[in-house]
Amino acid sequence: KPAIEVREATFHYGSRQALNGLSFSIRQGAKVALMGPNGAGKSTLIALLNGLEQPSSGEVTIFGEPMSSSNAQLLRRRIGVVYQDPDDQIFSPTVGEDVAFGPRNLGLDETSVQQRVAEALHAVGLEGFDSRSPFELSYGQKRRVAIAGVLAMKPDVIVLDEPMAFLDPKSRDQLQQLLEAMHSDGLTVIVATHDVDFAAEWATDVLMMKEGKLLASGSPELLFEPE
Ligand code: ADP
Ligand code: ADP
Repeated sequence: KPAIEVREATFHYGSRQALNGLSFSIRQGAKVALMGPNGAGKSTLIALLNGLEQPSSGEVTIFGEPMSSSNAQLLRRRIGVVYQDPDDQIFSPTVGEDVAFGPRNLGLDETSVQQRVAEALHAVGLEGFDSRSPFELSYGQKRRVAIAGVLAMKPDVIVLDEPMAFLDPKSRDQLQQLLEAMHSDGLTVIVATHDVDFAAEWATDVLMMKEGKLLASGSPELLFEPE
């Protein structure tokens, strides 16, 4: 089964059409660069994958299960989304509390919650940050807290919206290593990005969107093909 299948999805904000018959599928274990100019519909697609919005028509399928308003909450556990701005995702007074929020919501016992927090903070290189305030961290560190919060849910797929934005070269390298590590752990990783060099170097699959549709998909070589 593909990890994600989108069939003929449309989506409107009022009279504005953001998705216009979008179709594609993503195999399990892929490293996907989701590309396209501003306004192409990437953020809207991510909102559908996260179950925050329902398509006006068409279908989104997660591991073979069609997503609907009634099962969105359950399927969302399998797809973790890291938003572009970590301040949209971080709201607890300490890093430890923030990362614990999701697993606690799943109803896990406190020992399991703390185990997941420790594992997730280790994965993102923030061991020992439990009692720090997330609001006094650097932007790159905040982004890693947001990623830890998603990893603590143990999703099968992780979607990151422009994770490289506003990071210095060193933090970008660290983040790219983190993406590799998540993939090695078995996650299907999807990154919305404008960065052609990163996509060429990192991705196994490229999805190019334009005007709410799929313009092209395939291996990163397609980034270098003439129009
Ligand atoms: P991208 O993430 O690729 O830049 P978006 O999904 O943000 O694309 O936007 C797709 C289209 O939908 C654009 O025309 C955008 O202006 C429009 N749009 C996005 N969000 C809203 C919104 N909340 N209200 C109205 N129009 C929106
Ligand atoms: P991105 O390309 O990452 O989506 P944008 O600058 O396009 O960034 O959008 C930033 C935010 O503004 C998003 O939450 C998007 O949904 C919203 N937005 C984008 N276009 C519009 C619009 N035309 N009307 C209202 N909100 C919009």
